[in-house]
Amino acid sequence: MSINNWKISKDVKDLLNVRKAPLGVGGVTSIFTIMSALAQQNNAINLSQGFPDFHIDEQLAHLLGEAAHKGHNQYSPMPGLPALRQAIAGDIKKRYGVDVDADNEITVTPGATYAIYTAFTAILQQGDEVIVLEPAYDSYVPNIEMNGAKAVTIALQAPRFNPDWNKIKDAITSRTRAIIVNTPHNPTGAVWSKKDWDQLAEIIRDTNIIVLSDEVYEQIVFDGMKHYSVLQHPELRQRSFALYSFGKVYNNTGWKVGYTIAPPAYTQAVRRIHQFLVFSVNTPAQYALALNMANDTAPPVHTIMQKKRDHFLSLIKQTPFTIYEPARGSYFQLAGYSNISNLPDTEFAQWLTKEYGVATIPVSVLYKNKKDDRLIRFCFAKKEETLNEAANRLRRLKAIS
Ligand code: PMP
Ligand code: GLN
Repeated sequence: MSINNWKISKDVKDLLNVRKAPLGVGGVTSIFTIMSALAQQNNAINLSQGFPDFHIDEQLAHLLGEAAHKGHNQYSPMPGLPALRQAIAGDIKKRYGVDVDADNEITVTPGATYAIYTAFTAILQQGDEVIVLEPAYDSYVPNIEMNGAKAVTIALQAPRFNPDWNKIKDAITSRTRAIIVNTPHNPTGAVWSKKDWDQLAEIIRDTNIIVLSDEVYEQIVFDGMKHYSVLQHPELRQRSFALYSFGKVYNNTGWKVGYTIAPPAYTQAVRRIHQFLVFSVNTPAQYALALNMANDTAPPVHTIMQKKRDHFLSLIKQTPFTIYEPARGSYFQLAGYSNISNLPDTEFAQWLTKEYGVATIPVSVLYKNKKDDRLIRFCFAKKEETLNEAANRLRRLKAIS
């Protein structure tokens, strides 16, 4: 019997309606699913969804196979393999000069999307408010709404997409439970300085607001700049969840392994949820990551991505797109298309995929109110030949601009 012919009782139907996830910013289906599918249907170059299209480091791939062959194939401990948590603590100490307790402050998660969801679920009650700076990664608002809370959105200020501190201050109410921050930023490539963190600290000093710091692109910062982690800010660190993804460090987004760093009480609250949601994370992947971190021989990801960003910027100059600000971090570059078209960005992105064979992300879907500044997002975390072929296609736009 096909699923369509199933007779679902009214009770079950009601239940399904009640349990239906809120629509959130991206509508029923995430923009990443939509654009990647459209790219495939049209044989387009996929510069939409953020994932590298090149091979991962050979040593890391080898370690994954070895872990499986050596028999590391059963559940790992609920908070994550001790060896991996210790490797993470060592890495944080080395890169940020900060001590993190591997046992009580680090939880390995199946990716950062999950880490964000579980952090929200650990702290939110019905009716709470969360401040979200937009444009924003598309899971934030639905995750807040799934917890019965309200997303209070504030637009970042183009062209550099810096925060409007007065607006943030004005948005704080007695119900504000949290603010979610993302640096380096998807989709704008903006990077926060210590000054930004100091401003935030000042604004929330006399409140109970908790910070979710999405730092998945922490290791992808360009032009000699440095990422400043919330963990380095002694005042904020005590009231923050810092969220990370190995996918962005080792170019293996499909492994879906990340981690949360938070003070012990926050960590306990997250683990209470984590133990009943997934219990533990892919064991061979954790082994491979831990061993690799002990002796990492690959070039750092910022070196790889800086070359790609520079190459992409030189290519895009040969097209009618406008770059207002080069990305300072992440693997995304925003571009304006006013020289080409005045279509709304969602229509423009579809048209570009179908007619010119290059898929991108329309930025308006990353705003709750669908603010359309006629910008699209390119992912440049791709092989040189992929970027070259995309540019060949985009250069043809000159003829119509
Ligand atoms: N946060 C941001 C800003 C992202 O761009 C992404 C996308 N990869 C994530 C979180 C989620 O990372 P993961 O793939 O580890 O779930
Ligand atoms: N973070 C990736 C992006 O912004 C996609 C993640 C996803 O597909 N959910 O493109």
